[in-house]
This record gives sequence, structure tokens and C-alpha cells, in this order.
Amino acid sequence: MLWILASLFFLWCAFREIRNSIIAAPGFSVPTPVSKPYLAVVLALAALFAWPPGHTFYFEWLLSNKATELADNHRARVHCNTMFDTMLDTEMLAAGHADPQTGKIGIQQPWCGTLMSYLRHPNRASQDELVSLDIFTHESMHVRGELNEARTECQAVQRNYRAAKLLGVADEIAKKNALDYYAISYQQRGKIGGMQAAYYSEECAPGKAMDEHLSDSTWSASSAR
Ligand SMILES: [Zn+2]
Repeated sequence: MLWILASLFFLWCAFREIRNSIIAAPGFSVPTPVSKPYLAVVLALAALFAWPPGHTFYFEWLLSNKATELADNHRARVHCNTMFDTMLDTEMLAAGHADPQTGKIGIQQPWCGTLMSYLRHPNRASQDELVSLDIFTHESMHVRGELNEARTECQAVQRNYRAAKLLGVADEIAKKNALDYYAISYQQRGKIGGMQAAYYSEECAPGKAMDEHLSDSTWSASSAR
């Protein structure tokens, strides 16, 4: 919000400069010509301050579209929480949450940023970055209509490959990333137990009860190409 206000302030400076070159400012008998360097500086500052909110806005728009696709066209709207949003969030301890009724997905700090950095270098993704991809897919599965956490998470595991590709990751890297999440972070959930156990099931494996047999499943061999 502060960034947008700063950007608007510099836009107003530019507007005032141009206006004064057309209509004489109070106390002046003739219009003052535009100072081009001044105009260039204030316009550059306006653009600079508009960049972070503009970039987040674009990212939320992108995630909303892709989450809708993952949710089989149940309309999803993704919001990346700022620090301030997270403090006011009733579910601040969850990395993300979704309301299947409204399609609203909230992703907490710093997970949107982690997902952004994953997309910058998917070929050297850290486990944290893979978790951020899974949070996005997991919340999309809630919008799709699943409420049980273990089933939701298993649906996400099977679609992380699809999700990564939808976000622009190359096929082979997307496959590897999705399999890495399943082999490492997902299996850890089972071992940690407690809260994490609610997100894990031994039936979430190829050929077992939770296998949806998707043609582009993370673990299906036929889509490895
Ligand atoms: Zn969940």
C-alpha cells in the first residue's frame, strides 16, 4: 500500500510539471517549460515504486488462473499475504488455506516469495521451494472440493508435476521436482507423525488406494517423456 502511495506521489509530481508547462502556475505570468531531467526522474521513481505491488499483483493473477486449472475449473483466487495480512490471519500458523466455497486461497509469508524463487531456478530447487509448489497445489485441491487433509495432500502429490508445468517449468525438471517432493518431504511427514501425520497416508503410492491413475501423474512412468 505504501509503495502504491509513493508511486502515486511521483506520478502527481510529473503531472504537476506537465500542467505547469501548459498553464502558468499561480504567481507566474507564463507557463514554465518542462524540465526533462526532472520529469524523467519522477517518472522513473513512479515506475520503481509501482514494480513490487505490480509484480505481486501479476503473480497472484497467474497463480489464480493456474489454480483454477488444477481445481478442474472451480474458480480459484490466490492472495499472497503480506506480513501484515499474516498477523491478522486467523489461520496464521498454516502455510496456506483455502475456502472451497469461495475459491479463495491465502498463502502466508514467505511462501509466495519462495515459490517465485523456485520458478526462477527450478533445476536447482531446494526442498523448501518444492514445499512451496506443493502448498500451491494442495490449496488448489481444496478449491477442487476435497476437505480431508490426507486425501488433499495425496491429490497434490500426484499433480505437482502438472502444477510445475502449468507454471512454466520444463517437462523433465517438473517431473524430477515432483518426484523429489514425494520421495523426501512427503515421506518425512509420515515419519514425523503428530500434526504432520494427518497429511500422510501409506495408501498414497502408485497402485495403492489413493492412486487416481492420472495420465500425467507425478509417478506415472508413461508421462516421463
Ligand atoms: Zn489442507
